[in-house]
Amino acid sequence: MATTEIPIPTRAGGERSIEEERLHRKQRMAATFRLFGKFGFDEGVAGHVTARDPERLDHFWVNPFGKSFKQICVSDLILVNHEGEVVEGDAPVNRAAFAIHSQVHAARPDVVAAAHTHSLHGKAWSALGRLLDPITQDACAFHGDHGLFDDYTGVVLDLEEGKRIGAALGGHKAVILRNHGLLTVGPTVDEAAWWFITMERSCQAQLLAEAAGDPVLIDPDMAAMTARQVGSHTAGEFSFRPLWDVITSEQPDLFD
Ligand SMILES: [Zn+2]
Repeated sequence: MATTEIPIPTRAGGERSIEEERLHRKQRMAATFRLFGKFGFDEGVAGHVTARDPERLDHFWVNPFGKSFKQICVSDLILVNHEGEVVEGDAPVNRAAFAIHSQVHAARPDVVAAAHTHSLHGKAWSALGRLLDPITQDACAFHGDHGLFDDYTGVVLDLEEGKRIGAALGGHKAVILRNHGLLTVGPTVDEAAWWFITMERSCQAQLLAEAAGDPVLIDPDMAAMTARQVGSHTAGEFSFRPLWDVITSEQPDLFD
């Protein structure tokens, strides 16, 4: 479908070539892994961030199976085709990453990037089998904009399970996978990363608030208005920028 003639808009209104856009996505992914590592979202070998290739639209870039988020560089990322074969890079792909992310990318052509880890507060919240409530300004980013995959059937290795997760995600920016963890998506890597980071913290906030008492809900009209403010594409991209600045300054080897 895509050719090198298709311009890719940038925030500044300029255009990136296919090669520039591919490198841009991979750099954002490497920075995301370093941030996820810094925030402690890694749990052994679990977790993946994917970005659709800008040219081969049914292929996606993903982290190599078994490498710590804390050490991932641009050159470590591998490209996987629609059949789960590694077509660039010589590391294996996590089968669960392929089963889940291939179906999310297939179900949502608007989605460039998807993030999933077994972060502590996300998986603790997921065990309750509930959507997040609008109890803080930040949590309103997910008000009316996240789904619940209300099932658990073991490690996701089956494409049919990935399809069901894609259906639970629907048109939203995130889905809670019951007894498992969180998954977020975005039209850029920046957004998918930011939504993951802030959703994990919103899970932590609701766990803390409910452990201490009975949180007051923001009323639905106000939550909906706040969602448009803090949950927009612009807000997601903009919120990632300071994190990008910090991690690329602290860990410039991620560009290797
Ligand atoms: Zn998982």
